Amino acid sequence: MSAKNRENATGIVVWVNGPVVRARCEAGFRMLEVVKVGGAGLVGEVIGIHGDLATIQVYEDTSGLRPGEVVEGSGSPLSIELGPGLVSQVMDGIQRPLKRLRAAAGDFIHRGVSVPRLDRERRWEFEPRLEKGTMVEGGEILGIVPETPLVEHRILVPIGVRGELVSVAGPGPYTVDEIVARVDACGAEIPLTMRQHWEVRRPRPVRERLMPSVPLLTGQRIIDVFFPLAKGGTAAIPGGFGTGKTVTQNNLAKWCDADIIVYIGCGERGNEMTGVLTDFPQLKDPRSGRPLMERTILIANTSNMPVAAREASIYTGVAIAEYFRDMGYHVAVMADSTSRWAEALREISGRLEEMPAEEGFPAYLATRLAEFYERAGRVVTLSGEEGSISIIGAVSPPGGDFSEPVTQHTKRFVRCFWSLDKELASARFFPSINPMDSYSEYDRSVEAWWQEASEEDFGALKERARSILREDSGLQQIVRLIGEDALPDDQKMTVLAARLLREGFLQQDAFEPVDMYALPDKQVKMLRAILRFCDMGRVLVRKGIPAGRLRDLESYLVLQRMKSTVGNEETDRIDAIVHETEEEMYRTFPIDERDFFAISDRPPAGGRPGGRK
Ligand code: ADP
Repeated sequence: MSAKNRENATGIVVWVNGPVVRARCEAGFRMLEVVKVGGAGLVGEVIGIHGDLATIQVYEDTSGLRPGEVVEGSGSPLSIELGPGLVSQVMDGIQRPLKRLRAAAGDFIHRGVSVPRLDRERRWEFEPRLEKGTMVEGGEILGIVPETPLVEHRILVPIGVRGELVSVAGPGPYTVDEIVARVDACGAEIPLTMRQHWEVRRPRPVRERLMPSVPLLTGQRIIDVFFPLAKGGTAAIPGGFGTGKTVTQNNLAKWCDADIIVYIGCGERGNEMTGVLTDFPQLKDPRSGRPLMERTILIANTSNMPVAAREASIYTGVAIAEYFRDMGYHVAVMADSTSRWAEALREISGRLEEMPAEEGFPAYLATRLAEFYERAGRVVTLSGEEGSISIIGAVSPPGGDFSEPVTQHTKRFVRCFWSLDKELASARFFPSINPMDSYSEYDRSVEAWWQEASEEDFGALKERARSILREDSGLQQIVRLIGEDALPDDQKMTVLAARLLREGFLQQDAFEPVDMYALPDKQVKMLRAILRFCDMGRVLVRKGIPAGRLRDLESYLVLQRMKSTVGNEETDRIDAIVHETEEEMYRTFPIDERDFFAISDRPPAGGRPGGRK
């Protein structure tokens, strides 16, 4: 039964506990129906029904609300408005555009203030893509609107609509409420505008799901090379306070090669969110040089905003992401932080007097987390395009203790785990992703892409670097006990190689202009250069040269610093560095290039003249 077929129900408030309200209603609300509560018209959602008693979570502050006030049903579930005008917006957890709210209500937004989610006045240049007489189905691209210089908004036929296009508007400026097409669905004419609705908690349908096998490039070496995320994949960034979750999320938002970024600032303190809100508008898109906001949507729900809206914010974010995915875009969703979101669940659950499970979180915490991450994926859309949603959730476990429920449950549902390490962060080693505790299950599936892009045996290169780091991690325990000097020389060489890998490759400063992001070509060349040094070093050590002497080489310093001395566009210089490294080794030590030839995986670069001493 459609909402239009009945009078919307009304009820009377009988009980108020923070954001949770109970109302008695004879005719009955529906589960998940949106309601307006009290004289102020606070927006809420029915989350439980028991007889004629409905439990409602309210998205606005309920101070002053009294029993006896009226609750009005809307007949429809919590939905968002989709259409041109979404990109560049900053909105709250239930999609209220903050800028326009401010214009309507001033700096301190009063409760119950309502402005349309999408601007009703603005005209958008619509250009039809389908002709009159075409049979259409939900999800097809009806026309396009240049929404920002970076985003072409593809107007989709709403899901569920099917029939013959009996009219299509010509190219020209239209508001989101003007009719741009009419569909004849078995005799019933459906007018289409550029604005449509979608329930936030319901995943949008797709034609087919694909394997995530293309990397979402982030420009962060430790992620791209060692713990890659695939387009359509899921990742978690767990870490204690100050370990770099926000900086990492911001970095990914800035540099990752998604077409659209949806950034959900969820329950973080107001001043941290201010950082995001003031930072983002200043950022430039590295590919086009245009403001990054022209392909970004920000959802801001700070810790002092009502908890129920925080609970809704991640669904709002992911539903918007699905809409853009359905246009054939690659979308990256960042949620910072899912722990604050889980706390909102806990608070509401507590007020509902539900039986708590681990650490007071409701028993359905795991299901809710799963539902969120399951909305990621690489798909073929209903219109036959390829699109994807990658979800990256920050987790902030209290006291940095990863055994707590949110981290543990998240770990079950994500396939990439970038574990931030307090010790590394306090040593100012960033990104503080601990290579021993982190993992990515996309490692193998994106390898073919890298192999092709780099024309290298990328898998082997990476594995060699990994084994150095692994070996070193075992040796560090001994080093801590008896010191590095007590190690035999070949092990000293491993420690030296691992140090060079960490300092020269894994470490990457988010605020250093040359190194803030690295293109794949630079990443692969850097890795190869460092491993070349390590291989040659190993040969030298076997010939009796102390590992410590390698550290004194000029090349060691050059390799350690090349991340910030060589820009993305000048990677030829890395080839030159490799060449100079070899030259220095031949010059410094009594060796022959054949020694290297026999042991390392490939002959020295650049067809060197042989027989040098
Ligand atoms: P969290 O969100 O985990 O509390 P932040 O992301 O705010 O931590 O990071 C804390 C500080 O660590 C930042 O202010 C910054 O100085 C430093 N930091 C984190 N990541 C990096 C990075 N990749 N490069 C340089 N500095 C970083």
